[in-house]
Amino acid sequence: MKLIFLGPPGAGKGTMASRLSDSTGIPHISTGDIFRDNIGRQTDLGVKVKAILDRGDLVPDELTIDLVRNRLEQEDARNGFILDGFPRTIPQADALETFSSIDHVVNFDLSREEIIKRLSGRRVHKASGRTYHVVFNPPRNAGKDDETGEELITRPDDQVDAIKNRLEVYWKQTAPLIEYYKKKEILRDIDASPAPDEVFAKLKGLLRI
Ligand code: ADP
Ligand code: AMP
Repeated sequence: MKLIFLGPPGAGKGTMASRLSDSTGIPHISTGDIFRDNIGRQTDLGVKVKAILDRGDLVPDELTIDLVRNRLEQEDARNGFILDGFPRTIPQADALETFSSIDHVVNFDLSREEIIKRLSGRRVHKASGRTYHVVFNPPRNAGKDDETGEELITRPDDQVDAIKNRLEVYWKQTAPLIEYYKKKEILRDIDASPAPDEVFAKLKGLLRI
């Protein structure tokens, strides 16, 4: 199954993509995770995009499109994938059409107030990308990753100014994709506000899996 998870930052796309990937084996492809991994390893790409991610702006389309095109050519993505955080602009969506078909676009819907609560409480384990929330999904030991016991961090772009910028960028550049995919009749809306188990159950129902 070839899926796109669309929605504002903090809506729970990564959390649901990771659960769905664990239960089905479909690879979870997060452009944000790929950029952060490159930043961590200080690759040429990482050095180029670090300031952009920290501010909450978008990485240029050409760079992002090439990255996804190459990733989707890998063997594990031949029969399906969950794209989380791509496409984020109309040119990215147009480009994606030239190299892959898509079965469903799941649109995660969440109010601004809830988004801000989720992003400001998000904590991540840098090495694995595992994501927690101080209130909604706390680790067993405060501030520590459940599996490794290593320190959790707050993403630089989860600071207040970057959150505001990311939401503006989302409304200006990414939200138009809702109409774009509605017209193609592959948009499936999901209310992202309930607890994770409920959102996950609805997601499986929606995808009939
Ligand atoms: P996105 O990938 O859309 O940016 P995340 O999956 O990282 O969002 O989730 C943002 C934050 O909200 C994380 O801290 C996560 O633990 C928490 N979260 C995810 N889904 C839910 C949910 N259904 N209810 C409450 N908190 C959630
Ligand atoms: P995410 O982990 O999805 O919240 O993405 C984190 C950051 O990575 C974004 O704020 C952008 O700076 C960058 N990014 C991720 N996906 C894309 C994309 N499709 N296009 C441009 N920039 C992206």
